[in-house]
Amino acid sequence: MTPIYDRVALIGLGLIASSMFWAMKRAGVAGEVTGYARSEETRDTARRIGLCDKVCDSAIEAVQDADLVVLCVPVGAMGAVAAEIAPHLKPGATVSDVGSVKKSVIEAVGPHIPEGVHFVPAHPMAGTEHSGPESGFATLFDNRWCLIVPNGADEEATARLERFWQALGANCERMEVEHHDLVCAVVSHIPHLIAYTMVGVADDLSRVSDQEVIKYSAAGFRDFTRIAASDPTMWRDVFLTNKDATLEILGRFTEELFALQRAIRTGDGDELFDYFTRTRAIRRGIIEAGQDTEAPDFGRVQAKE
Ligand code: NAP
Repeated sequence: MTPIYDRVALIGLGLIASSMFWAMKRAGVAGEVTGYARSEETRDTARRIGLCDKVCDSAIEAVQDADLVVLCVPVGAMGAVAAEIAPHLKPGATVSDVGSVKKSVIEAVGPHIPEGVHFVPAHPMAGTEHSGPESGFATLFDNRWCLIVPNGADEEATARLERFWQALGANCERMEVEHHDLVCAVVSHIPHLIAYTMVGVADDLSRVSDQEVIKYSAAGFRDFTRIAASDPTMWRDVFLTNKDATLEILGRFTEELFALQRAIRTGDGDELFDYFTRTRAIRRGIIEAGQDTEAPDFGRVQAKE
């Protein structure tokens, strides 16, 4: 495949950036890929495993002459990184990001982008509970959605970024900023908060021992623990920056939980049965849409291969 960008710079070298690199290599969509991470340890690991064609010792060096710069750091760090690299961006280049929240990233990054450089925010809806430079794999984005939030960006630059993500295996869809943050609060952010809470509750219970929790975890708890093992920095930033949408969905969640609590207390089996029947249909829809498999292990084994 002819490269879509001659030179791509990845700032931050964790799960998403490393997966992007391996997917770029698989597809041949980038001439040269430079990378930068803030810690020497991560940069050394990247060099050791051949992550990036060139690992630079500064973000400024990494973005020199880059046609596409992708910010792959936690949402709360995007603004500072953008401020640092802004004066060194090539005219005509595209800056994008992979942040899980879009409104706050646009507010933090947008003002630093110089005239003549395009800013096209994006969010690949794919991940695992692992983080760091060694956690990435080329197939992470295959058949997953990448939401593009152009927010008025240049059409040609936006279409080019979409072609890039499609070459990495993803399906692209454009979305408005606020809608993106609400959708992600529903499908990702609040489910993570619930998992963190459930695992915290189990840890606090004195009448059920830790050993019992671990021994019998396959009954459902195990799937919460996988989600609750996700990177604390990333998720702290998600909730701090997507406050409005997450609080709105959390409010709705609490109301529904109270309704189910009442149904249990009053012995309203019909209410519980109808509720669970409705939710079961949503699971079927996800499988039909190819976003998970029917395998009883929640498709995890297949996803890692
Ligand atoms: P990750 O594996 O934890 O890697 C984060 C990278 O950012 C590391 O290279 C880290 O550098 C660097 N970093 C952390 N704090 C920084 C700071 N204050 N300033 C500069 N660099 C900093 O994270 P990830 O999972 O790839 O996530 C990266 C982005 O993708 C986040 O914005 C996240 O919201 C988004 N995202 C994540 C997922 C997911 O499931 N993981 C899915 C979609 C989108 P060091 O290694 O040197 O510390």
